[in-house]
Amino acid sequence: MSHRLVACEHCDYLHVEDDIPPGFVARCIRCGSPLYQAQKGTVERPLAFAITALVLFLIANSFPILTFAMEGRTESNTLLSGVVTFWQEGFPFLAFMVALTSIAAPLMLVGAYIYVLAPLYFGFVVPGLRAVWRVLAVIRPWSMLDVFLIGLLVALTKLTDFADVIAGPAFYAVCFLIPTTLLMSTTLDPRTIWRRLAPENLRYAMLEDLEELRAGTAQEKATGWMTCETCAFVVTDSAARETGGKCPRCGTHLHHRKSGSLSRAWALLVTAVVLYIPANIFPIMTITYLGRAESDTILSGVVVLLQSGQWPIAIVVFTASIVVPIMKIVLLGWVYAATGLGLAGPLRERTLIYRVTELIGRWSMIDVFMVSILAALVKLGNIATVVPGFGAVAFCAVVILTMLSAMAFDPRLIWDRAGMQKEQGMSS
Ligand SMILES: [Zn+2]
Ligand SMILES: [Zn+2]
Repeated sequence: MSHRLVACEHCDYLHVEDDIPPGFVARCIRCGSPLYQAQKGTVERPLAFAITALVLFLIANSFPILTFAMEGRTESNTLLSGVVTFWQEGFPFLAFMVALTSIAAPLMLVGAYIYVLAPLYFGFVVPGLRAVWRVLAVIRPWSMLDVFLIGLLVALTKLTDFADVIAGPAFYAVCFLIPTTLLMSTTLDPRTIWRRLAPENLRYAMLEDLEELRAGTAQEKATGWMTCETCAFVVTDSAARETGGKCPRCGTHLHHRKSGSLSRAWALLVTAVVLYIPANIFPIMTITYLGRAESDTILSGVVVLLQSGQWPIAIVVFTASIVVPIMKIVLLGWVYAATGLGLAGPLRERTLIYRVTELIGRWSMIDVFMVSILAALVKLGNIATVVPGFGAVAFCAVVILTMLSAMAFDPRLIWDRAGMQKEQGMSS
């Protein structure tokens, strides 16, 4: 057995790595967050999924998603046309966010997998593997094609009431792309790749190093090692001095904790709360139908869906656009406040709440995608037109700011501030 040390990314509890059966996930004994997955064979399967995803992505970007027919006129949209429409209508922020989340990030994600896994599988050498795999961790949360698909279904529901809508090849490509990219991500633990990309003579922090740390002074015990925020490599302070404060495995700058994380997290969250007001007051879009204009806010959009009897979709939109943002703001606020005050209490649950809010926040983008699709598709002058509104800008900003806030926060503070010193755990 290796006796390598593994630190929990969410609470910094140290564990000794152990072999686990394939398909199992090792969890932190203190906070319950996942530590690592059992090595699932080779890079072959994720590489195959990544190549399939790239082909589907190219189809999704080359053909129309929906074709909309009304009064003898037709209009089609592609993935890019939502971006172009936002730009032309004077909403550069929305154009940028839709381009990032539905085109650039998914493409970079799939591209990064192929760029790194293909050389590992076929055994050739290309430069910058570590840099590409490092960027992957930054891109991953911004790839939102799954959320885009739900936005597409909501747009479809709104359109079928008053026009004929035909799904194009890109629609089906997006439908298949979601499970393909999901399989690509879940069949590979990124840490497996970090092992293969590690420099030859890399020295892992071992159980013996821990004994040494234990023997040190109390000060050394509290700050004896750092965990890389990108590849979760455990670096003792003395090893970090040798590499100039950089992770010897992936090159990321090391910190004991993210600096100023609590105040940055608060600042971003408070800004989100302020913008939440215009996000709900101003219309997210204005629909002109046969010369009559009607504006929709986030809430009235849900009411319209309910009135037209679209219960399931109304519940999805209500949850994603109203329940999730409010819950996320309240729960993050509570986690930050409890951490700042150093409150004891259910720390394990607090960590779980943080992890869940970090995962679900992106689903609130459904309404933004819906507006981008409707505005790109419904452009028939006085017969039918959809124009984006300022509410969509404010709402998109709320979603992004709460995501950035959760990213800025260092969940290890939950444990530090509650008076728990870094503990040197022994189990795996
Ligand atoms: Zn933990
Ligand atoms: Zn690293």
